[in-house]
Amino acid sequence: MAEFTMELNDEQKEVRDWVHGFAADVMRPAAAEWDEREETPWPVIQEAAKIGLYSLDFYAQQFFDPTGLGIPMALEELFWGDAGIGLSIVGTGLAAVGVLANGTEEQIGTWVPQMYGDVNDVKVAAFCSSEPDAGSDVASMRTRAVYDAAKDEWVLNGTKTWATNGGIADVHVVVAVVDAELGSKGHASFIVPPRTPGLSQGQKFKKHGIRASHTAEVVLEDVRVPGHCLLGGKEKLDERLARAREAVKSDGERVKNAAMATFEASRPAVGAMAVGTARAAYEEAMEYARTRTQFGRPIIDNQGVAFQLADMRTQIDAARLLVWRASWMAATGKPFTSAEGSMSKLFASEVAKKVTAQAVQILGGNGFTREYPVERMHRDAAIYTIFEGTSEIQRLVIARTLAGVPIR
Ligand SMILES: Cc1cc2nc3c(=O)[nH]c(=O)nc-3n(C[C@H](O)[C@H](O)[C@H](O)COP(=O)(O)OP(=O)(O)OC[C@H]3O[C@@H](n4cnc5c(N)ncnc54)[C@H](O)[C@@H]3O)c2cc1C
Repeated sequence: MAEFTMELNDEQKEVRDWVHGFAADVMRPAAAEWDEREETPWPVIQEAAKIGLYSLDFYAQQFFDPTGLGIPMALEELFWGDAGIGLSIVGTGLAAVGVLANGTEEQIGTWVPQMYGDVNDVKVAAFCSSEPDAGSDVASMRTRAVYDAAKDEWVLNGTKTWATNGGIADVHVVVAVVDAELGSKGHASFIVPPRTPGLSQGQKFKKHGIRASHTAEVVLEDVRVPGHCLLGGKEKLDERLARAREAVKSDGERVKNAAMATFEASRPAVGAMAVGTARAAYEEAMEYARTRTQFGRPIIDNQGVAFQLADMRTQIDAARLLVWRASWMAATGKPFTSAEGSMSKLFASEVAKKVTAQAVQILGGNGFTREYPVERMHRDAAIYTIFEGTSEIQRLVIARTLAGVPIR
């Protein structure tokens, strides 16, 4: 009989401690430097590749953990180390998931290993969906993909924005409109292979946080990719479009809900990153509160400070439990009938923002300087309520799912 347990098994603990070791020994000491440089920390990614932490194998192994906790556990530790470097290490995974979710076995085998490169020549990949006028409103996407049957090529035109690793990636996964009348169901994903003419990096953004992670526009001007770069293949796309046209006519809502299921399964990952940043800031604040003396006693002796720390830790633990529940549901195929994936992302990201702000307050003047890491963690935490669906969009999804009506 399956036994309920909240305890990690030995293998999970071993992986967690191994990732934690890398986060503590390699990422933490490098975090401030790469935050200031606002550049991709290639040497750190290389170090991660050397030990197998930056590799398809590692993520595949964690992904297939039957409890679902492998990925959130690893992400929490990496983002405890540093969020900007963490995203540089896992950003490729976002593009890889795009291929794993929609690609054929051949496409997965060809492109996913190329996304990571090899130990001596590491590469990164980018997933490009957002556009200047299509952020939360994905259906407003304008980038077009037109099929040139004579050459069996797709021609991509448009501008993507806020792409993690955009322009510096070897492999870009680009989402484009193939049938404008079907809204987001008329989208398809394409591989743009390394050095394809017409793809260029636009503006690189200077950011508030996660500054070690590269974020840029990606411009596509008559980018021609072979037919085999359409993820899933043409036959499957034609079938899917035909089904969507039928469904739009008869049952539009059901189609929308099917699309959301994918996000429900991936959103807990962002929640886990947020838990990592929040925990890091909480630990700094706890240490500081125990050692900083004012009025002749450690500041934690004041209930006003101690109660904040109690609340911070409680919120972090609650966030982790929501993340783990949703990850377990995804791994075991449970239906997200209450948008539990969105719940976990919403709660954990809001907790990270709040907890990091409290940590700055507990460190006082020091918390406001770059001499202490909570200042950076506070800036980094702001991303979690924005990307992979803002907090408002998570609330919209949760409310719609619970109410069963299309709340606007
Ligand atoms: C650092 C960084 C990295 C990123 N990486 C990637 C990436 O790799 N690939 C990629 O494709 N994208 C990426 N993004 C884009 C990210 O997913 C979008 O920024 C996000 O989806 C929000 O879109 P937006 O910025 O256009 O905001 P908008 O959609 O314009 O929203 C603006 C505000 O309005 C609110 N709002 C919008 N609609 C509603 C509504 N219906 N009800 C209530 N409130 C609403 C939002 O919640 C938000 O507060 C990244 C962004 C950042 C900042």
